[in-house]
Amino acid sequence: MRLSRKRYTKRILGLLAILAVVTIALAFPALLIHDHMETLIIERLGIEARNVAISIAHLIEQDMEPYRKLVDSMGYGDPQFDEAYYLHTNALLREIKQEIDADFIYTEAVVSDSEIAYILDAEDMASEGFSAFGEREGITENELIAHTQRMSLFTEVVDYPVWGKLITGFAPIVDTADGTVVGLVGVDFALEKVGDMLRNISIVIALSFVTLIILISLVMYILILLRIESQKTDYLSGLHSKKFHEFRLKDAIDDALSTKRPLSLMMIDIDRFKAINDTYGHQVGDRALKSIADVLKLNTRVVDICSRYGGDEFVVILPETNLKDAVVAGQRIVDKVQQISQDFDGLAAGELTVSIGIAQWSLDETPESLMEKADKALYQSKETGRNKLTVYREAKQSG
Ligand code: GH3
Ligand code: MG
Repeated sequence: MRLSRKRYTKRILGLLAILAVVTIALAFPALLIHDHMETLIIERLGIEARNVAISIAHLIEQDMEPYRKLVDSMGYGDPQFDEAYYLHTNALLREIKQEIDADFIYTEAVVSDSEIAYILDAEDMASEGFSAFGEREGITENELIAHTQRMSLFTEVVDYPVWGKLITGFAPIVDTADGTVVGLVGVDFALEKVGDMLRNISIVIALSFVTLIILISLVMYILILLRIESQKTDYLSGLHSKKFHEFRLKDAIDDALSTKRPLSLMMIDIDRFKAINDTYGHQVGDRALKSIADVLKLNTRVVDICSRYGGDEFVVILPETNLKDAVVAGQRIVDKVQQISQDFDGLAAGELTVSIGIAQWSLDETPESLMEKADKALYQSKETGRNKLTVYREAKQSG
């Protein structure tokens, strides 16, 4: 229980680490895409403001004379000031403003390199945002460019303390009679106009990337698990690999320590296997290896861990098993191999046998020393005739 929780925690930590790495790897492109989309949407708003300004400039250019007179007048009280035209055109701009949901629409005359004077304004005359005829203000670089280069353009988003974030389109009003620029049309759109769109884009991008991050992390996690799984298995025999054995032996010792239950280890080696290979070929040898692996699987418990340790060497971890029970299991394996050896296709009867060494784990013993003891016992089996098992004993080893 304690160990499986440890393994579970390890897996969760592994998954979290993959998630963190994938998130870091994808965060940068996600931000780039988000910023790019935001720029595109804001640019669309700017283009819209500029296009409306161009249309209004053309509208004024259709009837240039009264507008020109208005620009040249000194304002209210001046006999040149055509109040009817002024009020009527302001009302027209107000209607357009409401129709297209703009924030401000106005025209202005450039009076010097540093100043503009407002002419028309779509705001209600009583409102705070209304710019009275002739009201002066410092010129911006964009206004100067639009005026001197006769160019329609839109500005970047500007954050005004009173009006909030605005993007402005400017278009020059050109008197086609003499080609002079009489002034500019300004159209302001609040960034808030596309606020919902920007928020929705952020949500869609965030959701897409979270989904992508989870999917990529899961695929990576599964691939890593599959790779670990494949490293755990020896493909010829279908048993566990040496690496997995080493890993599980440590766990088994930890378990034995905490449960105070016995633990035994069995090393198995095929007798004179080199001669079998040399005489009958590797294919027969491989089949023999596979058959012995099957004998191990069929003659051990589910909790026992059978691994192929090397060429013709196998190892079995026997948890909660004392020497007496390990010997019973070992002898069963020796007998079973002999049994299948009687009519093993391609070999002479009784030619396939195994030798076994068994050792029981003692308190505070390392995996290495337990392996060494089982190996010594196995060597003893080989020395004393093969096709048998030997138990490791501290002072004296006996079969
Ligand atoms: P002993 O009884 O002392 O164990 O003699 P042995 O011939 O079995 O010992 P040795 O260690 O000299 O030979 C092991 C042989 O196992 C050598 C090699 O040809 C064979 N072998 C190792 N891996 C494989 C394999 O994957 N397939 C086959 N067919 N043979 C293998
Ligand atoms: Mg051998």
